[in-house]
Amino acid sequence: MNKELLLIPGPTPIPQAVARAMATEMFDHRGPRFKELLEELTASLKEIFMTRESLFILSSSGTGALEAAVVNFLSPGDRVIGLVNGAFGERLAGIAAAHGAVVEKVEAEMGQPLDYEALETLLRSDRDHRIKAVMVVHNESSTGMMNDIERISRIRRDHPALLIVDTVSSMGAVPFPVDEWQIDVCLTGSQKVLMLPPGLALISVGERAWKAASTAKMKKFYFNLLAAREYYAKGQTPWTPALPQIVAARTALDLYFHEGRERCHARHRRMAAAVRSAARALGLGLLVEDCHASMTVTAVIGPEGVNIPALCAILRDRFGVIIATGRGRGKFSDRTFRIGHLGAVTEMDIVTGIAALEMALYLQGHRLELGAGVRAAQEVLIGPEQ
Ligand code: PLP
Repeated sequence: MNKELLLIPGPTPIPQAVARAMATEMFDHRGPRFKELLEELTASLKEIFMTRESLFILSSSGTGALEAAVVNFLSPGDRVIGLVNGAFGERLAGIAAAHGAVVEKVEAEMGQPLDYEALETLLRSDRDHRIKAVMVVHNESSTGMMNDIERISRIRRDHPALLIVDTVSSMGAVPFPVDEWQIDVCLTGSQKVLMLPPGLALISVGERAWKAASTAKMKKFYFNLLAAREYYAKGQTPWTPALPQIVAARTALDLYFHEGRERCHARHRRMAAAVRSAARALGLGLLVEDCHASMTVTAVIGPEGVNIPALCAILRDRFGVIIATGRGRGKFSDRTFRIGHLGAVTEMDIVTGIAALEMALYLQGHRLELGAGVRAAQEVLIGPEQ
């Protein structure tokens, strides 16, 4: 009966126009209508990725693109570095290991910055270039940490290892210039910033990665990007694409560009700052320091004694606000909850979500001044530009 406010790190709410566009009739995916749509969407997505290289639309969730990013460019036995400071870094490393790569994990605690120095040392000491790839998650949705990909790109500069980056929960919310940062393979999912339902994944492939693809020996079939390239030349995808999502993507991207890239980035900055400020005003902790804070997901450390699953249940059942529990196996994971503020989430959704959070905390016995968090969020939202 109640309207729900979805504030999880994804899937995110979709605009009504996008939902309506999903209710499309089916059409020939090998015909001219699809070709035109595919070419238009690819061009728009390249603008968001800030790339002039190849970009493909896959019918899968983000994890499919993670797998594509590994199997198309590597061979079993290749030595790769997996930078890990959360559950999704772990996943990317796990995929590479599952396909036979020798993964050297460079790990940091969840919620802590990556060990950039260790990466630099490893690449510097690799004189005969045995390391074939550096794999990293830009926005660790499990902790709300934004890793510094520009810095990693600088560290990797003189080394031929491919740079493979997961931007599943950040692409579109912050400037992410794939070409300028020389990211060889970059991927995202449809159900986050892009305001689409789950079901599509986007992946860009640069020149150096294509070169690696020509000798890569990992097994693949569905996610064969050489096949995707061949079919793209004909305005098609190798397999039957998720047509409703693809039709709706036109609407979602129109909405994205109607807001404008810079304004969309600014909205995400404001929402992130508002959530952080509200949490502080309510006496709550933040898992990640401000300087590494994600613009799309915030992990908040609940007060001692407050049961997080119970808090989330009150939010859901009493107030219709859906947030996520902590994730992974960090020191605070059973004490954190995560708020997603990305995609079609609005500034007023943040105010509503914080108001509900205050009431849920209050009902759980946490001493707080009702309205303090809302006020802090409002002050950020109408304050000077973040
Ligand atoms: N990487 C990151 C950073 C994510 O946030 C997610 C999903 O939340 C994934 C990868 C996996 O994407 P999917 O669940 O669409 O397979």
